Amino acid sequence: MIASSLGEGVEQLGDLIAAAKVIVPFTGAGISTECGIPDFRSPGGIWTKNRPIPFDEFVASQDARDEAWRRRFAMEATFNAAKPGRGHRALAALYRAGKIPAIVTQNIDNLHQASGFAAEHVIELHGNTTYARCIGCEKSYSLDWVKQQFDADGQAPDCQSCGDPVKTATISFGQAMPEAEMRRAAELAQHCDLFIAIGSSLVVWPAAGFPQLARNCGARLVIINNEPTEQDDSADLVIRHDIGETLGPFIGN
Ligand code: NAD
Repeated sequence: MIASSLGEGVEQLGDLIAAAKVIVPFTGAGISTECGIPDFRSPGGIWTKNRPIPFDEFVASQDARDEAWRRRFAMEATFNAAKPGRGHRALAALYRAGKIPAIVTQNIDNLHQASGFAAEHVIELHGNTTYARCIGCEKSYSLDWVKQQFDADGQAPDCQSCGDPVKTATISFGQAMPEAEMRRAAELAQHCDLFIAIGSSLVVWPAAGFPQLARNCGARLVIINNEPTEQDDSADLVIRHDIGETLGPFIGN
């Protein structure tokens, strides 16, 4: 059912939250647009400017790695300046209140951790862009280290331990999904009574399968997104409004 107005949506969401014992939020890029981080698919989003670099291309080509890192450095000021928005803060309030055991996110911006979620309670399906990792031995590197190497050599660095390429700790298209995170997200979806998809176009698979998994296991499904998604028909409540406006009233919880 689509809420006829923002007010009606907030009221119905409030009722569902009050009735729920275990809430699992599932967030996408839309929760972070009010923090200054563009999403992928909206007008002005990242993909309207740059074609994504698939994983096999990153592995095969030094030029692709250099380009990937140039793009990441170009976003550094934006990521550094971003602070949790109203959506992040509302979810953190429900987490503190004991209603949310953990959050599943497609985002890579670290803003759920910054809003107060313990790192072990943020299930990052697509990794994290605030640090780097060797794609071979998985050794972690700071972005500062990568930048220093890049500036010194004029190209993206390889791992000091094993010599494989170093990449942001994110999951690119064509890269395997993280097994432990996929397993934990599935368990959370299967054992909640309210699943709230927030700011995701729900077109990136397999992540987009979790709302339906939750629904099939008996949870109520709410979708908050300012444009239609393919899963709206199966939701108990669709709030097609701004996320900050919708979740702002729950910050005080
Ligand atoms: P997406 O760009 O496909 O979809 C975002 C959705 O949010 C869109 O449908 C858009 O209309 C909606 N939206 C944007 N701002 C909104 C607002 N203020 N209120 C309500 N709705 C709003 O993003 P996705 O589904 O998360 O999938 C894209 C992939 O992009 C993810 O895998 C993620 O890893 C990556 N990504 C992450 C970030 C980030 O970490 N902040 C930013 C860009 C892309």
